[in-house]
Amino acid sequence: MDEIVYRLNAEVSAAIDCTQCGACCKQLIVNITPSDADRMSTHLQLSTPQFKDKFVEEGSSGMMIMNTIPCHFLAGNKCSAYEARFTECREFPDLHKPNFRSRLFATLIHYAMCPIIYNVVEELKEETGFTPKSPDGNLIEASHENIDTPD
Ligand code: SF4
Ligand code: SF4
Repeated sequence: MDEIVYRLNAEVSAAIDCTQCGACCKQLIVNITPSDADRMSTHLQLSTPQFKDKFVEEGSSGMMIMNTIPCHFLAGNKCSAYEARFTECREFPDLHKPNFRSRLFATLIHYAMCPIIYNVVEELKEETGFTPKSPDGNLIEASHENIDTPD
């Protein structure tokens, strides 16, 4: 499975221009590692404490996160600090990583946001002959009756 996803990711990523999108930068909370903070501080010609004061807060897990959504460094749909962008920014949408099956839920959370994920998943469904089935083994018909709606 990983090999198929790697190939589809390469094909789809080559056909999609992230600078015309920027959806992840507009919607995701970005975790920041200590080395990310050092690299971005240097890029911005700030000390690391100055950088943290201005742009960083502590997330619930204790990790550093950006203190705004969209990200401070988004200019239009482009990253204004691209060379120094954070590790998570470099890796998203993570389709080059192993164990796609174990990360499927985390990937599908972003299915509607990220055109790369959307297209890779749709191509993957085609290649694997995926058909949605209910627990009794019957095909699930596309119908509004299958969608839970609030009372
Ligand atoms: S640092 Fe750049 S790539 Fe990362 S979220 Fe901010 S704008 Fe996007
Ligand atoms: S949401 Fe996906 S397609 Fe859009 S900029 Fe981010 S990685 Fe690129």
